[in-house]
Amino acid sequence: MKNLNQNAQSSENKNESCKSSISRRKFLTVAVTALLMISTLMQNLALAQSNMPGLDAADKINLKGEVMLLPFDYKNVNLGSSRWRQQYQSARDFYLNVSDDDILYGFRRAAGLDAPGAPLGGWASNNSYVIFGQWLQAMARTSYANDDSELRNKAVKLVDEWAKTLPANGDLNMHHYPWEKLLGGLSDMKQYAGYDKADSLMEKITDWAIDNLDRTRTPAANKPWELHSGVTLEWYTLSENLYRAYQLTGNEKYKEFGDVWRYDSYWNKFADTSDPKDAQGVHAYSHCNSFSGAAMAYLIEGDTKLLTSMKNFYDFLQNSQVYATGGYGPAERYVFNDGALGESLTTRLDSYEAPCCTWGAFKLAKYLTMFTGQSRYGDWMERLLYNGIGAALPIAENGKNFYYANYHLGAGMKTYASSNYTCCSGTYFQNMAEYQNLIYFNDVANNALCVNLFLPSEVTWQPAVDSTGPITITQQTNYPEAEAINFKLDMPKSVKFSLKFRIPAWSKNVSFKLNGSAINVEVKPGNWAIINRNWKSGDRIEMNIPLHFRRSPIDKWHPNRVAVVKGPVVFAQQIVHKHMISIPPNDESLNEWMVPTDNPAVFQYEGQEQSSQRDDFMPFYKFNEMRRYRMYFDSELRNILW
Ligand SMILES: [Zn+2]
Repeated sequence: MKNLNQNAQSSENKNESCKSSISRRKFLTVAVTALLMISTLMQNLALAQSNMPGLDAADKINLKGEVMLLPFDYKNVNLGSSRWRQQYQSARDFYLNVSDDDILYGFRRAAGLDAPGAPLGGWASNNSYVIFGQWLQAMARTSYANDDSELRNKAVKLVDEWAKTLPANGDLNMHHYPWEKLLGGLSDMKQYAGYDKADSLMEKITDWAIDNLDRTRTPAANKPWELHSGVTLEWYTLSENLYRAYQLTGNEKYKEFGDVWRYDSYWNKFADTSDPKDAQGVHAYSHCNSFSGAAMAYLIEGDTKLLTSMKNFYDFLQNSQVYATGGYGPAERYVFNDGALGESLTTRLDSYEAPCCTWGAFKLAKYLTMFTGQSRYGDWMERLLYNGIGAALPIAENGKNFYYANYHLGAGMKTYASSNYTCCSGTYFQNMAEYQNLIYFNDVANNALCVNLFLPSEVTWQPAVDSTGPITITQQTNYPEAEAINFKLDMPKSVKFSLKFRIPAWSKNVSFKLNGSAINVEVKPGNWAIINRNWKSGDRIEMNIPLHFRRSPIDKWHPNRVAVVKGPVVFAQQIVHKHMISIPPNDESLNEWMVPTDNPAVFQYEGQEQSSQRDDFMPFYKFNEMRRYRMYFDSELRNILW
């Protein structure tokens, strides 16, 4: 066994030198080191911006927020074959095939133009503004990521045709929610689709909005009911895309208008605590989404108070709001931290607004990963990938879309929303586009590539130091239905750098092999494991994450109300009509109790009759429409059958 960590210099070691007696020479060394660290962070930012296509304002804006890890340019990562790739592919095919005339119908009619086709229906009956901007964003990103000219051409045609319906004064006759999505979509058309006319369209709709959008800005409150999303509706989500437009263009107008929609009154509730007593009862998705505005404000201004609030808000969600799936927000609200989440399992069927809330969560966790450099935020991305958006029903004909996931105690079922083309049909596609951007991060300061998600994929990476050309890393795995994750490296010449692997907080005994031989790597759950060496083409790393069953109690008030989780995946029981069973009282007996079957994803409990019943356990993501399941169990629940 070889120790490959000897060259990894931790930041703790660097800080040690600050504590020793200060000679002038040492003081200078420390000062120079600090300057170097700052300049490395600036290099990170500069690299981030130079990596972003269409970011012609990169040299005009001085971003002050620290960026520790960079996301990858979408097109440097490809998804390999997996159910997640299939999910993405079927979404791409669905949205590509929605009729352009139908999408444009309401816009053309309102402008008095010839309007062939028909309204999309559902939430997009009048016009498609509720999803138009989000679709543009997803089309721009996925077409860029996959060099998909068919999808790009569709997005360009949609914007060209929509622009013909835009009056000279930019009057869109629209409210805050769709306006913000539209600005985001146009920004992405500029950044990822290379669409030249985006600039003038962004400016035109913003000039109109500056003069016309209602600035009432009443913060959300838990009562009266109408205030859960604030007045006007979700106004506090506008700043993120305005700040992005500023980052893209350097035009101060977007920054100033972004400042108008800051939500400091809510962000500040988390300035000193992750358990504020007055943050509940408000709309779950949009309040999570508003922290993406705080993230962009932090990136631009560097005010660490904003970052602290983001971190505390994240802990608030993890400690008091999330189910075993990672989902949050029963009835689309945050609950009081007093056992209400456990009680929601008996009172609500609308447990999690899966596509929208996953989108808000992906963005928050991605910003936090970038700003802190920590791996812990990836654990939430992973849970939501498998149990949140990855467990959603696919978007289907006429815009039928999945909205709420149902975690009701004792029994649930996946169904489509009663209305078509809801908000969730917009975020569903945005989530798919994001898969490629969450798997890897670039750690420029440590000359390292971070593996955040374990998904079949290929990444092309250029190390910051000692590089002779791009390095390609191929990841192959059947995780989370198998424990082995294989990486193969290809590069023109031997190069020294680090690979960092996210070690999930729930994991135990994660191990590594290099070219078939076990190696000694320091592994701490909730942190990165680092392998630093001189790599050569053909090197192979095998990571093994043991996957065991464990009980996941809903909250401390309901210790016996549990879901069954294996690794990052929530399992549910298929139910036909057999009596409800009790989950064993501890993890050890649970693991003895779950018996593998021929299908690696399916388990039967000990003593179960094999052929006559179908109450096996399998991942929640495997359940299709209208198939009943049991996700949460409670040993204290009365058995009402006999
Ligand atoms: Zn939604």
